Amino acid sequence: MQPGANGSWRQNAGLVAATLTNEPVLTISGRDGARDYVYGQDFTAWTKRLDPTVAVENAELVFVGYGIVAPELNWNDYEGVDMRGKIAVILINDPDFDTGDDRGFGGRAMTYYGRWTYKYEEAARQGAAGAIIVHQTAPAAYPWEVIGSRVTGARFDVAREDRGARARALRGWIQERVARDTFTRAGLNFDQLRARAQRQGFRPVAMGRLTGSVTLETSFETLQSANVVGILPGTSRPDEYVIYTAHWDHLGRCAPVDGDDICNGALDNATGTGGLIELARQFSGQGAPERSVVFIALTAEEQGLLGALYYQQNPLFPSRQTVAAINMDGLNRNGPTRDIEVIGFGKSEMDDLITEAARAEGRRVEPDSLPEAGFFYRSDHIHFAQLGIPVLYTKAGIDLLEGGVDRGRALVADYIANHYHKPSDELTDAWDMRGGSEDLGLLYDVGRRLADSEEWPRWRDNAEFRAAREADGR
Ligand SMILES: [Zn+2]
Repeated sequence: MQPGANGSWRQNAGLVAATLTNEPVLTISGRDGARDYVYGQDFTAWTKRLDPTVAVENAELVFVGYGIVAPELNWNDYEGVDMRGKIAVILINDPDFDTGDDRGFGGRAMTYYGRWTYKYEEAARQGAAGAIIVHQTAPAAYPWEVIGSRVTGARFDVAREDRGARARALRGWIQERVARDTFTRAGLNFDQLRARAQRQGFRPVAMGRLTGSVTLETSFETLQSANVVGILPGTSRPDEYVIYTAHWDHLGRCAPVDGDDICNGALDNATGTGGLIELARQFSGQGAPERSVVFIALTAEEQGLLGALYYQQNPLFPSRQTVAAINMDGLNRNGPTRDIEVIGFGKSEMDDLITEAARAEGRRVEPDSLPEAGFFYRSDHIHFAQLGIPVLYTKAGIDLLEGGVDRGRALVADYIANHYHKPSDELTDAWDMRGGSEDLGLLYDVGRRLADSEEWPRWRDNAEFRAAREADGR
C-alpha cells in the first residue's frame, strides 16, 4: 500500500463550523400585515455564505412545486420565472411519491430530485435569494423534530473558495401549518397546487405579493480534518481506479444516556472502517491487481457527508478513469444471513456484479427495503455518484440463518430505536461478525473482479447520474 493523496496518506480537508449567534425571525408580509414565525418551532434557516450577517429583505415568495429541473424528463418547475431576489417555496420528495406511478421519478422510491440537498442546489442555480422547503412528515420520511432539533450548535460545511457565494443566501424549512397559512393568505389552495405540481407542465406560481424577510447572524470557525487514502497501484492499468470508501468519523460527545456521553459509533462506522482495512489487507496479500485499487477513510460523514463532498470537489483520481466506488456504512453484526441488501438497487450494473458474487456463495440479493426513505442519498457514495461514478452500497441482510427474517427485523428495529447515534452503539458480547465478514467477502469479490478486468459498469437508463458519466465520455 502506498500513500494515495499526492504522496501523502492524508487528503487534508478544510471544514467550516458555522454557529448562529442570533435567534432569527421569519417575517412573512402581505396586504394583510406581517406575521412573525418562531425559529425552531415554525421554521429553520441557515446559510452557507461566510458572511457575519446575511439578510433577505422583503423577497417575493414563489411556489415552484418540487423545485426540479430534469431535462431528461422534460421537466422544469422553474419554467418562465426569473428567481433573482426571490424566495423559492418548495415541496419535499418528488412528484411520484403520492401516487406511486413512475413518471420518471421512480414511483414511491425517492430519486435525488426528491432530496432536500438537491432542492437547495437547484434554487441556487436558478439565482434565488432563498429556498424554503415545506416539511411534510410522510414525504420527508422524518418528523419535524428531526429538523427542529438541529437549530442549536454548529453546522459544518467544506471550506469553499467562493466562501459560499454560489450557494446563495438563505436555506430553510417551514412547518406544513405555516405553509398552509401562507398559501391561504396568498389566496392559493395548498392541496390543489401540490396536486398540480405532480403533473407534467406545472408552472411556478407567484404567491400573491407575499414577501419573506430573515436576518441571520453567524460566527465561523475553520478547522482541518482529513480523508485517509491508500492506493495499491495496478500492474497493467494503473491509471484506472476501483475505490473503496468508509467514513471514519462519528459523533464524538453526544446527548448523555445513563451518564455516558461518548458516542462510540462501533457499528456506525467502526465496522465499515475495519472492513476497509481488512479489504486493503486482502488485496495486498492476494497478488497485485491489474487496475489500481484505492482505499479511502472519509471524514465528517455525520456532519453531512463532508469528506466525500471534499473529495468530489477535489478528486484525487479523475472520475472518467474511476471504474466504480464501493461504500461501507455499518456492517452486519447479527450473524450470517441468506441475503444482502443493495441500497439503490436498479440504478446500475453494479447490481449484476453483487448478484453474481452472492449467488456464487449460495446467497441472494434483496433490493432496498425502504426505497422511499432515500437511504441511497444519505451516505458518502452519493458524492461519487454525482461525479458519474457507478457506486455500490450494501446493507446487512435480515434473513438470518439463525432466527430468519423475524429475528433479523427485530434486531434492526432494536438498533434503530435504541442504539443508532446513541452512546450504546458499542461493541458487546452479543455481536456476531460472521455475517459481516461474509458480506465483506462479496464486496471483495466485486472489487477484485473489476480490478482484474476491463469492465466499465454502466448506469441504467433511468439513473439520475447517467448524464454525468456520459459527459465524462463513458
Ligand atoms: Zn454512518
